[in-house]
Amino acid sequence: MSRRFELSEKYFERAKKVSPGGVHSPVRGFRGVGGVPVFIESAKGVTLRDVEGQTYTDFCLSWGPLIFGHQDQDIREAVNRAMDRGWSYGTAETYSLELAEELTQNIKGLEKVRFVSSGTEAVMSAVRVARGFTGRNFILKFDGCYHGHVDSLLVRAGSGLAEMASPDSAGISEQTAAETLVCNLDDEPALESIFEKHGAMIAAAIIEPLPANNGLLVQRQEFLQKLSILCKKHGSLLIFDEVISGFRVAFGGMAELTGITPDLMTYGKIIGGGFPVGAYGGRSDVMDCVAPAGPVYQAGTLSANPVAMSAGFAMIKKLLRNQPYNELEQRTTKFVQEWAGLSEKYLPFPTRMQHFGSLFWSVMDRTPSVVRSQDKIPTEQKPRFAKVFHAMLDQGIYLAPSGYEVGFLSTLHNDTILGDVLERAETGFKTLK
Ligand SMILES: *Cc1c(COP(=O)(O)O)cnc(C)c1O
Repeated sequence: MSRRFELSEKYFERAKKVSPGGVHSPVRGFRGVGGVPVFIESAKGVTLRDVEGQTYTDFCLSWGPLIFGHQDQDIREAVNRAMDRGWSYGTAETYSLELAEELTQNIKGLEKVRFVSSGTEAVMSAVRVARGFTGRNFILKFDGCYHGHVDSLLVRAGSGLAEMASPDSAGISEQTAAETLVCNLDDEPALESIFEKHGAMIAAAIIEPLPANNGLLVQRQEFLQKLSILCKKHGSLLIFDEVISGFRVAFGGMAELTGITPDLMTYGKIIGGGFPVGAYGGRSDVMDCVAPAGPVYQAGTLSANPVAMSAGFAMIKKLLRNQPYNELEQRTTKFVQEWAGLSEKYLPFPTRMQHFGSLFWSVMDRTPSVVRSQDKIPTEQKPRFAKVFHAMLDQGIYLAPSGYEVGFLSTLHNDTILGDVLERAETGFKTLK
């Protein structure tokens, strides 16, 4: 089977004339895998339909938000009800109140929360609050962790950047970058020495407690624990960036699974049910620094937009009702094992599958142990993944177009669908033999 991409090519030519790289977020441009991005016309359930009418089983799911698949009926109904009452007031309203109550009641340590419109905005604001609260300037981040395109955190930040020649973005001043300290993941001695040297100046340490934007670099509990202890000892705030892990691996994200309660947490992706929502929150005394309660300014014209809040509320209610996490994890484990078997059987190079909950990642080499840090990602990751990506695309399997991005399952990826996907994957793998 061979697919046509002529229409996508035409659209892409047009798009490149009017937008940088033809896209509105870098990894969408297929630079990591080569070729032309597939233009999607519609999506339903687990299926994407492109502009030529060809279909794909989607494992990217809008980069994670769609845990119940495309066009979930409960979210649609909530959005429609909200639309009937208008779609933006710019005043106090009850939509955000209900969502905030639901979240604070169900997430330990989330005493107060503020809604914004993206994960980036949530992180940017949390970092400002941490600086305002502590009166310190330094932020500690981890090599390969992505926290959105916040200036001070676009330092060794993973997938979209791993594709580029230089890991740092242009347009960020040296002074800004100089206030960011970077530590290796999975390395307690390095962590201790950074805190020993700079602890008194660190406003906050920010980490993806499940780093999933640069491969899936699952951390050991001991490492996260150590970070938490060092933050407490040195009076630095701990920020868990749960934009990707929150509501994905457990309702309360990695904070719930590890039992570590950070001072601040950031959310995005799933929290908006596929609409633009971000949130940051945590300790009351810290959050009360935020305007108008306190001196740290943060605002948004469309913040807590009623339509997006309704989508988020429907999503959150459904997650609490259905508790899909065990089933998602079991299905993912089985799927990944079978996928690994096929890779082993057909691919001319060794691979290893890493997964956690409903997230999975193919490591494109045989590594001695689980890959937990940036420096252990195989050098052949990009070109090898590109081959697999295109073989799968041709079989109607849509993976995120980068070897540094993870795949996701939704609750709609049932055994029948996954069985069918594995059959097509086998056909695809055979072409790479
Ligand atoms: C996606 C992501 C962000 C950025 O969120 P946007 O909504 O894309 O701005 C920040 N942090 C983490 C951990 C993410 O996965």
